[in-house]
Amino acid sequence: MNRAQRERFMKILTSWRQELLNESSRTVHSLQDETINHPDPTDRASQETEMSIELRNRDRERRLIRKIEESIARLEIGSYGFCISCGVPINIERLEARPTATLCLDCKEWDERRERRGV
Ligand SMILES: [Zn+2]
Repeated sequence: MNRAQRERFMKILTSWRQELLNESSRTVHSLQDETINHPDPTDRASQETEMSIELRNRDRERRLIRKIEESIARLEIGSYGFCISCGVPINIERLEARPTATLCLDCKEWDERRERRGV
């Protein structure tokens, strides 16, 4: 991966992370607002369901943010874009589609096959 590509992925990853961080702070605010605005118990029940969905989403978001940060750290030390399993450069198109990918396609497929077999 050349310098221009590294810079481009750095931009993709940092703006993606920023987007997610903005999103999750907005969710916190709307959760707080809604808690005050529903005195009716029926509303409160559906609100709790919504809240648990929200919390699950936020959990997923946090994990994704962590993955993005790991990718950024790997970009900084120069190991980004290489498969963590076999060390070959990961296909650029694959990284475009999945900037947090840490495995090349072969290793990924092998991993999934192994998972399906339950090994
Ligand atoms: Zn590999």
